[in-house]
Amino acid sequence: MKLPSLNIQILIGAIFGVMLGLYFHSLGAENHVVNGGLYVAGLVGALFIDLLKMILIPLVFCSISVGIANLRQHQQMHRVWVTTLLFFVSSMAIAIVLGMSASLYFKPGSGLHLAMFSEAMQSFEAKQLPLPEFFAQFLHGLFVNPFAALSQGNVLAVVMFALILGIALVMGGERYKNILSLLQEVLEITMSIVGWVMRLAPFGIAALLIKLVAVQDVAMLNTLAKFVAVVIGTTLLHGVVILPLILYLFTGKSPLWFWRGAREALVTAFATSSSSATLPITLRCTTQHLQVKPEIAGFVIPLGATINMDGTALYEAAAALFIANLVGVDLNFTQQLIVFFTAMIAAIGAPGIPSAGMVTMVMVLQSVGLPAEAIAILLPIDRLLDTLRTTVNVQGDMVGSLVVQKLVNKS
Ligand code: ASP
Repeated sequence: MKLPSLNIQILIGAIFGVMLGLYFHSLGAENHVVNGGLYVAGLVGALFIDLLKMILIPLVFCSISVGIANLRQHQQMHRVWVTTLLFFVSSMAIAIVLGMSASLYFKPGSGLHLAMFSEAMQSFEAKQLPLPEFFAQFLHGLFVNPFAALSQGNVLAVVMFALILGIALVMGGERYKNILSLLQEVLEITMSIVGWVMRLAPFGIAALLIKLVAVQDVAMLNTLAKFVAVVIGTTLLHGVVILPLILYLFTGKSPLWFWRGAREALVTAFATSSSSATLPITLRCTTQHLQVKPEIAGFVIPLGATINMDGTALYEAAAALFIANLVGVDLNFTQQLIVFFTAMIAAIGAPGIPSAGMVTMVMVLQSVGLPAEAIAILLPIDRLLDTLRTTVNVQGDMVGSLVVQKLVNKS
């Protein structure tokens, strides 16, 4: 019997996961079938993420250094750098404006009071994260002993070292051609391992979604329904309208074409809530289905997975305004501007792992004097919201690589 294509298998896995998750949710956590099922789902889902993470670091390391080396040979590196960073900052700025405008208009949280959540807040202690310290920490995190960074899975530091190595390889020219071709071959091998891991994706994604849906805190979701609706609505608007529009305006590519090529990565991002874990698949979709040249995708995608987060930027800004409403503080225009900038820095600084945005949000809140403990209210629903914002984070990287390719080739 001929199996359906991997794309279709992944979609079937996702739908099956959500359905079974809903069924488990309706049976309740005490049921021993549910308990056993959740144990298996947890194990399978975690193994799938483990496999992706296993391949992530060698892949990022090789794809960036080889990508940079090839770009330099074409004298395009400077243009790619500048266009990529401009794209990242502009798309995050649009996302933040969207999140803030919707929050200012719909005012989620204005009928609620902080006191209603005192129980959730009691057990939570927010760490101090003042902006200058956060900034210093971020800069220090860029340059790390490469062996430590590789072994600890520190993606941002690996990206930086690979960038520098790529430049050194080109400067050395002919002299280092063996190292360059070695890296190129390792890159090819890791990409074929990614292909194998992808075959397991339908099972991994189903397992992750079963667990996600089955353990949702519905009571908290109901209380925060308006906020959840604003966040989901604006994130969807950014992902379904704004990013496709940007893609169309710059490259003339249709949203449907993009979806067909990107869906494996988007569904994986949704299920794993981690841009980093999804990175191997994002890279594969971008180079193989969306036809972005490996030297451009190899640079834009890994960098984007760690610093370009449209969904997270939008969320951080919307959540800060929500908490301001909850506390009954009216932020003036200057404070709103501070939220705008700190939300962007917080999104750039957040690593591509589940709920990373929650940690860096402390800084956004503190920058305008809001109580960081209020994050405890958002934690129970974060796993759910993280799905969509991670999907849009990954989508932003893929759209970015297509736009950068187009702009660089034009000029
Ligand atoms: N989970 C997100 C990501 O990996 C980061 C966040 O928490 O916003 O892209």
